[in-house]
Amino acid sequence: MIEAAQRILRVTAMEFDMERREVIDLFGETVVLEISEAKGVRKPTRPNGYAAPPGTGPAGETCKSCEHAVRVSGNTANTYRKCALMRANWTGGPGSDILFRSPACRHWEKEHG
Ligand code: SF4
Repeated sequence: MIEAAQRILRVTAMEFDMERREVIDLFGETVVLEISEAKGVRKPTRPNGYAAPPGTGPAGETCKSCEHAVRVSGNTANTYRKCALMRANWTGGPGSDILFRSPACRHWEKEHG
């Protein structure tokens, strides 16, 4: 029974890329720790800084042709594409970016020069 349980634990640890380490605790007892070594599991954050769902605006228009689309450069060499209407929600991460090729949303306005 105990062997079966240990085998299941070992298989589970292998499936989830876990490492088992034996350490000695404060009281001198040997304790087995299972440490997750999961790498590259997280999906990349998708740009989602749109003022409204893309595709709800005028047909044929994109964020690139919108008055509210801006390029922001912070303290880095990169520029980030954002929607000015969502300025209050801007973060330092890609979640508040937009793609200029996205179909226009219902807040789209024609660029004024
Ligand atoms: S179409 Fe204009 S208002 Fe809408 S998300 Fe794109 S940049 Fe913002």
